[in-house]
Amino acid sequence: MELQAVPPSVLHPPMSEKAIRARKKYLRQKEVKALELKNARERNRKKLGLKLLSHVFKKSKQSDGFKFSFQIENEVREIFQTWADEVVQEFLGSLEERWTWHRMLTAGDFLSLRHIRDQLPQELVDSYDKFQEQVDKHLSPVKARKALEEEGRKIKEEEERKYAERTVDDLTKLCMKVSAPIELVRKAVKMAGFTNKMGRPRPISILTSLEDADIIKWYAGVGRRWLDFFCCCHNLKMVKTVVSYHLRFSCILTLAEKHEATKIECIRHYTKDLKVPDLNGNEEVHFPTEKEVKMMGDKNLSDPKPVDGALSLLLIRLASDEPSHSCIGHFCDKTDTVMYRVRLLQNILNVNPADEGKWVPRMSAIHESLNQMCLPLCSDHKSDLYTGKITLQDLDCTSHVNVD
Ligand SMILES: [Zn+2]
Repeated sequence: MELQAVPPSVLHPPMSEKAIRARKKYLRQKEVKALELKNARERNRKKLGLKLLSHVFKKSKQSDGFKFSFQIENEVREIFQTWADEVVQEFLGSLEERWTWHRMLTAGDFLSLRHIRDQLPQELVDSYDKFQEQVDKHLSPVKARKALEEEGRKIKEEEERKYAERTVDDLTKLCMKVSAPIELVRKAVKMAGFTNKMGRPRPISILTSLEDADIIKWYAGVGRRWLDFFCCCHNLKMVKTVVSYHLRFSCILTLAEKHEATKIECIRHYTKDLKVPDLNGNEEVHFPTEKEVKMMGDKNLSDPKPVDGALSLLLIRLASDEPSHSCIGHFCDKTDTVMYRVRLLQNILNVNPADEGKWVPRMSAIHESLNQMCLPLCSDHKSDLYTGKITLQDLDCTSHVNVD
C-alpha cells in the first residue's frame, strides 16, 4: 500500500457543484413524491367522505330520521373533528395560506374607517374589532416569517463556520492517505489470467477441472481477501471494480467454458451473485454480491491476510482412486478425504517469481517445492483453503503423498 501525507480536504473533499445539484434534485424529487402521496390520500379520503355522506343522506330520506340499534354519533363526531383539525392545522402550517387568509380578512374593510364606525351600533363595531383581533392572533404571518428567516440565517452561519474550519484545517493539518497500488493489482489480475490483453474478463481454463462450487470458492477467496486487504484504502473503489466486475465475470466465463454454455445461460443458472446449492440443497453465496461490495470500505486496517497465497495456488482434484488418507489439516482427524494436486501459478505460467518484470513486484510466491505435491484434504479444509480462510501454513505439508 502507498502512504502519502495530504491535507484533510483530499481525504474528505467538499461536495462538487454537480454533486450538490444532484443532491438538491434528489431531495426535491423526494418532496414531490411525498406530496403526490399525500394528495392521493386526501383524494381517497374525500371520495370516501362523499360516499359516506350520500349514503347517510339516502338513508335519512328513505326512513325519516335515523334508527340505530347502537350509538355511533360520538365516533362520527370524533372522526369529523380530527379531519377538521387536520385541515385547520394544515392551513395554519402554510405561510402562503395564512398570508392569503389574513389579507382577505383584514384588507380594505370599510368597518375600520372612523366616520363609518361612528355611525354604527357600538355592539357591531366591538364584535368586528374582536374578530380582527382573532384574525391577527391566529393568521398573522409575521411570526412564522421571522422563524423561517431565523432558520435560514442559522443554516447559513453553520455553513460559513464549517467552511472556515475546513480551510484552517487544510492549512494546518496533514492526514495519512492510504492508496492501493492499483497498477500492481491490475498486473496481478492480468497475470493470473482474469483478464485478457484488452483488460476484459476471460475464463481461466485450468480451473474448469474443479467442481462448480470450488471454482466459485476459489474466486471468492481471492476477491474477498483483496477487498479485506485494501479496505482502508482511499481508492478502494478501483479494487471493488476489479472484484465485482473482472473477477465476477471471469468466474462466470470459467463456469460457462466448463459447461460449454454461453455467458447468459450461465448467469441465468448461477445468477450474478454466483449462488450454488450446498449438500442439503440450500443456496450458498461465497462470492461477495454486488450490493455487499458496494457497502464495503471505510474500515480500519486490521490484521489483513495476504492475497498472494489464494491467488497463486490451485488445487486440482486427482481422478485416481487412492487409498484413503487422513486429512493433513492441523488437528483434523477426518479420514474421508480427497486427494488434490497443488499447481502453482508461477509454474503454470512458467515465470520465475524473482523476475520483477514478469512477476508482480512485492507479490510473494509459494515455494517451488510444493508444486505438483499431492495433499489429502477433508471437504472442510479444502473449502477453507479455496476461500482463503487458511493457508498452506495451516496444513502439515510434510505428510504429503507421492502420486505419480
Ligand atoms: Zn480436515
